[in-house]
Amino acid sequence: MSEPTGAWKRTAAGAGLLGPDGSVSPTIFAEMTALATSTGAINLGQGFPDEDGPLEVLDAAREAIAQGANQYAPGRGIPDLRLAISEHQQRFYGLHLDPDRHVLVSAGATEAIAAALLALVDSADDEIVVFEPYYDSYAACVALAGARLVTVPLRWPDFQPDLDALERAVTDRTRVILVNNPHNPTGAVFETPVLQRIVELAERHDAIIVADEVYEHLTFDVPHVPLATLPGGWERTLTISSAGKTFSTTGWKIGWATGPAPLITAVNTVKQYLTYSNGTPFQPAIATGLRLHDAFFEGIASELALKRDILGAGLRAAGFTVSEPRGSYFTVADASPLGVTDAAAFCRDLPQRAGVVGVPVSAFVTTEHRAQYATLVRFAACKRVEVLEDAAGRLAALMR
Ligand code: PMP
Ligand code: GLN
Repeated sequence: MSEPTGAWKRTAAGAGLLGPDGSVSPTIFAEMTALATSTGAINLGQGFPDEDGPLEVLDAAREAIAQGANQYAPGRGIPDLRLAISEHQQRFYGLHLDPDRHVLVSAGATEAIAAALLALVDSADDEIVVFEPYYDSYAACVALAGARLVTVPLRWPDFQPDLDALERAVTDRTRVILVNNPHNPTGAVFETPVLQRIVELAERHDAIIVADEVYEHLTFDVPHVPLATLPGGWERTLTISSAGKTFSTTGWKIGWATGPAPLITAVNTVKQYLTYSNGTPFQPAIATGLRLHDAFFEGIASELALKRDILGAGLRAAGFTVSEPRGSYFTVADASPLGVTDAAAFCRDLPQRAGVVGVPVSAFVTTEHRAQYATLVRFAACKRVEVLEDAAGRLAALMR
């Protein structure tokens, strides 16, 4: 069969998403999970839990399907989920949200991020400021939105940004400061002065803050401080979260955006033409989850902290230097003590050498800054204890 010729490839190719040979470059997560599957290695690459979340939540979804919640949900999300999201913001952060004006349910955090950037970017001169390394979809969505990505480096080992560098990056051209806190891939939780500076800079330069807080309940011994709770924060912040992380339901793709009504409306203008709506039977189930008692939310953080410790100890015993994450699923380890100079090549070999998959941090940075992160590997701790212990034992082989 013949294939189309002509200029159609330019858009995706221009955004760096289509290779010169016309192939799709898979995301680093797809690539690493495929590698784990083909080699039988333990997958500490893609961040997804290997256990189900709370039974109440799973049962609520089964029940919703049985009750016939199987057609389109309203575009903004079912009213009860929007109510549960606003109750959650009140309970944990003291924020008063109107479920009808301040909440939008999305197809995962991913759709909310994409819709926000598409809605807020106006011209090719608009700049989006992100911390680097960054979650992979940020750069792709900025490119698809036709804006310019401006990065502020986070440096090993604590990955807190330099405030002067942040100040230099934010200008009157900045449309959005896109902040992920707790941070993927580094596990950093930004200190409050960093968050305050972000709000000040957004105010000074009339930028919108898009706060990707999908790991809001996964911090270790430090509270999560939503940007929207800081003075001056609410009125210019669009906060994004995801049920996937909190309830171990990454495959359900239920996320949401909360914020001032005009920003939510702007995001909805785009979102309604992306998916319109999604996951009807999962929506009441996530409402059930958001109403679980405090002990559930405390439990998921303390369980993950324990897993982080097991993973960290295993990595240290295998000869890596390890950065201590304060939140998120992830731990970043420096492989240079093992003689590694290129973590991307090391990660490609790791399944053969040790039966474990990790992700090179260079997958989360711009090409020009790759060298600074060349020896770092991200490992996911959101796996069963016995899996992490098995991985630690396998990694110990690197020392032999
Ligand atoms: N943002 C960050 C920082 C993430 O780590 C992820 C996924 N793990 C997402 C967004 C996407 O979330 P979702 O699966 O709900 O689309
Ligand atoms: N957020 C997950 C991670 O960082 C993966 C999500 C995806 O595969 N797109 O590993």
